[in-house]
Amino acid sequence: MLVLLIGLQLQAQEIHKRTLKLMGSRFEITVTAENPEKANQYIDTAVSEIQRIERLISSWDPASQTSEINRNAGIKPVVVDPELYNLISRALKISEITDGAFDISYASMDKIWKFDGSMSSMPSEEAIRNSVSKVGYQNIILDPEDHSVFLKKEGMKIGFGAIGKGYAADKAKDLLRSQGVTAGIINASGDMNTWGTQPNGDTWKVAITNPLNKEHAFALLPLEDRAVVTSGDYEKFVKFNGVRYSHIINPKTGYPATGIISATVFAPKAELADALATSVFVMGIETGIDRINQLPGIDCIIVDTNGKVHTSKNIKLDSL
Ligand code: ADP
Ligand code: MG
Repeated sequence: MLVLLIGLQLQAQEIHKRTLKLMGSRFEITVTAENPEKANQYIDTAVSEIQRIERLISSWDPASQTSEINRNAGIKPVVVDPELYNLISRALKISEITDGAFDISYASMDKIWKFDGSMSSMPSEEAIRNSVSKVGYQNIILDPEDHSVFLKKEGMKIGFGAIGKGYAADKAKDLLRSQGVTAGIINASGDMNTWGTQPNGDTWKVAITNPLNKEHAFALLPLEDRAVVTSGDYEKFVKFNGVRYSHIINPKTGYPATGIISATVFAPKAELADALATSVFVMGIETGIDRINQLPGIDCIIVDTNGKVHTSKNIKLDSL
């Protein structure tokens, strides 16, 4: 009997957490493990996985395959790892289901719109027109034969700002799971991805906050093997003539999206949730909710610039 009790004691799972900066954002990795040593080992594994992905997809790092694709825009196709090829291929599918609201080739606009506090005036219409002419996912050419990627127009550029953190969170979760970690949370600056349950059997819960009143969560929602991602403009935006422009660009007009201050999307995978949260910003409240309602297993909560909350059909927030 005593032996059995000791056995149980050793098996008991505790929650361990580490916060660190990865992919230019604050990540918080939570795992359940039987002891701190084991937990640290697991977290190290997740960290190296996220760093590996960052090296592959970063458009800031000149040594990444993504930068090589960008350098060869209008010149030639670049053969890349199947992993990057497949990520781009999924990104193009998301462009299709969002009628181009989501577009990884938005990135040529980052020469015009800067959200680091360095902008003092609105870019000229001509500069915007020139830049937006390089945007268009239809000009990203994939060849499944050699998994090469070709950006057709000179000056085109791709970037994974709206999907990369979600993808990294999914990969870290999958890897930890395959190593036997029974439960955890990958939180990539608010992009939450959970699996398993808390050691006491309770479901993980995430607080959904109204960006206009961050102290007060308007919902505490259970998250079981799902992801929830919030795109918000409250950290990165510029204001001209009283209008807030978010860091999310409408690929058709070249102007940042307006009207929404936060879009939260629930999906089975963080990658999709991440991409769709960005897309909802561009699609706007009505079209955004309508599109989300058509996608099985996907839900959203939108807060508009007046602080009004809008939800997709399966979300019931009693406390609003
Ligand atoms: P956050 O980085 O705050 O989590 P998002 O996931 O919504 O926010 O990603 C916003 C980032 O996505 C922008 O900073 C930019 O890098 C990129 N982006 C902007 N507009 C688009 C767009 N229409 N389609 C795809 N990516 C975009
Ligand atoms: Mg996103």
